[in-house]
Amino acid sequence: MKIICIGRNYAAHAAEMKSAVPDNPMIFMKPPTALLLKNKPMYIPEFTKDLHYEAEIVLKIAKNGRHVQEEFASEYYNQIAFGIDFTARDLQSKLKEKGHPWEIAKGFDHSAGLSEFMNMADLNNAEHIQFHLDLNGETVQNGNTKNLIFTFNTLIIYISKFFKLQQGDIIYTGTPAGVGSVKIGDKLEGYIEDKKMLSCDIK
Ligand code: MG
Repeated sequence: MKIICIGRNYAAHAAEMKSAVPDNPMIFMKPPTALLLKNKPMYIPEFTKDLHYEAEIVLKIAKNGRHVQEEFASEYYNQIAFGIDFTARDLQSKLKEKGHPWEIAKGFDHSAGLSEFMNMADLNNAEHIQFHLDLNGETVQNGNTKNLIFTFNTLIIYISKFFKLQQGDIIYTGTPAGVGSVKIGDKLEGYIEDKKMLSCDIK
């Protein structure tokens, strides 16, 4: 399975990173070994002094497809999860400065926190999905998919031009503003609408 991630998909987050809003979805991947499941703790890796959380809605791909057309795009997903795209920000900044790929800052072991999936049919509002992340009980990121620069359907169409989508692939759809760093002893809790989806202790 592939873990496909989208960068800068909310304008307010692009602004806080002092980055331009992209013309097309910005894609990178994490390997399957990046998954952090079942509310397991995150151990801060020794290679970073600035580990950031990025709360994201994650889509699960429901069927195989290439070159998906607009009218069929919504058939390719029907389940979502709460994800945390853990990022070694200091390492990423250094690599970005040099114009190098920043895979190691994004795709390291356990960098892809992931909750259980829920059916989109069970959401109160599947068009405008509200989600938030609490750090030690205080909300630090508050997102709504109505603010996505590239919608779920646009992502499906664009990604499938380059990569065959396979059932079980997942897509991290980007983070809203409010990213920040964690330290040992912190607790992250992720919610979709009012439902608590994920909990992660930082160790
Ligand atoms: Mg991200």
